[in-house]
Amino acid sequence: MILFKRANDLRQWLEKAKQNGLKSGFIPTMGALHAGHISLINQSKKSDDLTVASIFVNPTQFNNAADLEKYPKTIEADIRQLETAGCDILFLPSVAEMYPDGLQADKKYNLGMLETVLEGKFRPGHYQGVCMIVDKFLQLVQPHYLYLGQKDFQQCMVLQKMIDQLTGIDKPVIRICPTAREKDGLAMSSRNMRLTTDERKTAPKLFQMLTFIKENFTAKPLPELLTEAQKMITDAGFKPDYITIADYETLTPIQKPNDCKHSIALVAAYLHEIRLIDNLILS
Ligand code: AMP
Repeated sequence: MILFKRANDLRQWLEKAKQNGLKSGFIPTMGALHAGHISLINQSKKSDDLTVASIFVNPTQFNNAADLEKYPKTIEADIRQLETAGCDILFLPSVAEMYPDGLQADKKYNLGMLETVLEGKFRPGHYQGVCMIVDKFLQLVQPHYLYLGQKDFQQCMVLQKMIDQLTGIDKPVIRICPTAREKDGLAMSSRNMRLTTDERKTAPKLFQMLTFIKENFTAKPLPELLTEAQKMITDAGFKPDYITIADYETLTPIQKPNDCKHSIALVAAYLHEIRLIDNLILS
């Protein structure tokens, strides 16, 4: 694996690779890598000539300073995992390298209602920051494929919308990979490292609740189902930001199972200090 810290060095190297007709896949991450991240690397390894990953804890997407400060950093273990997985290129820039002119936004992305619902509502500014950094990465790497995890379902929609508006480069195709889970169902997340032993025991309740929604999706009226789902996790000690059953295409909440073709349940909830998110496709 070749490690680049400077955008210019990476750009020059990739230009040469592309002259040789190589197709690349790109996996942006914030590090503290786990098997979920590596599943994205594996998907790219299977289908692309070149697999490029980045590790960058992007300050502009954190709407909570403490969350940014406490974000886990395990860079040496990350590099070992990427090497073992056969990743070809790792881009590991500094904040100054990615934001030489400072952290203020130089443009506003039109994300429509995606920015005002669910994660957009509870994390103001988060998706503008995500778009800002992924835009910079895409301009630099110009990959054929962009690998994203279903775990961050709304982020996949946001980035598709951002890519639709991209100009000046060939638009990458997004490939969404399924959520990798621990044996007990907990969605893998870098933030799981911050859970205490007791919190870690409680955390799988989130997936159990989503499974409960899926199993009872057509059996109970949805408002009643949501009330029971909410009770399940609040009784376990979670403070939910939202639990919703929504149209898979638009994220608009639905009232009845056949209000849309495909539906998805999404949740974000705090377990004390740690905010966890998850989702499950229902139909
Ligand atoms: P992050 O490092 O959390 O910004 O995540 C980098 C990429 O890995 C994003 O596309 C995430 O959606 C994806 N990802 C995170 N957790 C998982 C998981 N448990 N399964 C699959 N992909 C994941």
